[in-house]
Amino acid sequence: MSNFTKGAAWVRGEIVPVSEATIAVNDWGVTHSDCVYDVCGVNDGAFFRLQDHIDRFHASMGSLQMSIEQTPEEVRAILHAIVAKSGLRSSYAAMVTSRGVPMIPGSRDPRDCGNHFFAWCVPYIYVFKPEVAARGSRLHVPEHIHRIPQDSVDLTAKNYHWGDMTRGLLVALEKGFDSVALTDHAGNLTEGPGFNVFAVIDGKLVTPDGGVLMGITRQTVIEIAGEMNMVVEQRPLPLEEFYEADEVFTATTGGGVSPVTKVNDRVFSNGAPGPIALEFGETYRAWLERPELRDEVTYS
Ligand SMILES: *Cc1c(COP(=O)(O)O)cnc(C)c1O
Repeated sequence: MSNFTKGAAWVRGEIVPVSEATIAVNDWGVTHSDCVYDVCGVNDGAFFRLQDHIDRFHASMGSLQMSIEQTPEEVRAILHAIVAKSGLRSSYAAMVTSRGVPMIPGSRDPRDCGNHFFAWCVPYIYVFKPEVAARGSRLHVPEHIHRIPQDSVDLTAKNYHWGDMTRGLLVALEKGFDSVALTDHAGNLTEGPGFNVFAVIDGKLVTPDGGVLMGITRQTVIEIAGEMNMVVEQRPLPLEEFYEADEVFTATTGGGVSPVTKVNDRVFSNGAPGPIALEFGETYRAWLERPELRDEVTYS
């Protein structure tokens, strides 16, 4: 039983410890990174905005022409079951659909693959570790690595196509930064590996609207701004303008809102987390407690 404390997975109809969950080596999910997925956070024993994650997951599958047997209600029940089994009150819960193995051996036709669903949960994952978030993260924007264009890969479908991000991360980490954010080929900022980006410019929030995943944390930040009567502009954000912002912060399920204190050579708010980023971080944490956004897990 205690072997579930590191996480639980649902594969092929069974719940197993996450370390025992497997998929086939010739699954297109492995050979072509051909998966769509979503990740919902569990905070203090409840999923946050679970329905929004399940809806986006099904939209992502639609975009990549994948389909599964499970209904959205069944996906929800499976996620509840694995988190309950793990006993984790704070968890990173992933739902995944893989293209699958060709049912006609050797077929190169994606439509011949048996799309299949699996899910897993592990202890909560922070994109920026709490100590990094507390001091403010430092992001690298590489000059020569760009986010893949939207007409090559649908970036609004959450997917495993991470070649650009991994390449950027390797450069950023080598240079001593905490993470990376990529520009598109026109020089506009997009996003980083698993997070959206916001800039505070002239008292308004600006966040890119193209070449990015429409993050649910991003959406929550926009809704929080609405309650604060703060204007939000969703539009292209040129890197030069981004450098001139008063503050910068990131938004992700993996840790909420985190301040950024440095982008390449540019230092923001004297190298300390900015007041607006801190306010959004605190408000986001308060929203995690809003009953209407929570789906309580029933642990046995
Ligand atoms: C998951 C993800 C995000 C953040 O989305 P949330 O729904 O807020 O977790 C941003 N960008 C990419 C590329 C992602 O995969």
